[in-house]
Amino acid sequence: MTWAGPAPAAVVIDLDDTLYPQAAYLYGAARAVGRAGAAAGLDPVRLGRAVRRQLVAGSDRGGTIDRALTAYGLPPAEAAALVPALVAAFTGYRPRRLPLFPGAAAALAALSAHYPVACLTDGNPVIQRAKLCATGLSEAFTAVVITDELGGRATRKPHPAGLREAASLLGTDPGALVMIGDRPGKDVAVAAALGARSIRVRTGEYAHVPDDPPATAVVPDLIAAAALLLGDGTP
Ligand SMILES: [Mg+2]
Repeated sequence: MTWAGPAPAAVVIDLDDTLYPQAAYLYGAARAVGRAGAAAGLDPVRLGRAVRRQLVAGSDRGGTIDRALTAYGLPPAEAAALVPALVAAFTGYRPRRLPLFPGAAAALAALSAHYPVACLTDGNPVIQRAKLCATGLSEAFTAVVITDELGGRATRKPHPAGLREAASLLGTDPGALVMIGDRPGKDVAVAAALGARSIRVRTGEYAHVPDDPPATAVVPDLIAAAALLLGDGTP
């Protein structure tokens, strides 16, 4: 595959499931919920597993803790009383270290040597910054944009505010950007909304969802995306 058309003026990269496997973060958070449950007399391993199973079924759905407690077999009244503390344990979890996808650090470094590169990510800003820190990527970008800081959940991708802000911080027109990310409905869609091009990477939880909307290019991972933009041959 070769990159058709002009080189981009700058590159914007998603964080979760594009640079590192978000499951690594989610499973750590599930274990933290298990530990918090132990304080209330629950089996931490069994509760952690119940949370993990709910996350595997879909991490974007709400009510993960409620469903996990139901699956654990806790009576509804007891579960309801425990939910606030367990949700706090989940959202309060801060990983010390998160593994990058193999080759992702080198791919990012190669892209950064040729283009200004920003990170564009959705989520609780405290958690997203903690993830960046745990991946060792806090200083790896020209700019970091966390959409929730612009207007709360309403400005999460595919809302154009975040990519527009990234373009502004990178000193370029949004239409001259390439957005690299794992989720068609978010990363590809936000690029399309502003006339930017996009590269979908097939990594993480959403690797198998349909190409809707279609990206400019679809590649296996960030290594292949960097190779495409840097003209290093067929990924
Ligand atoms: Mg993502």
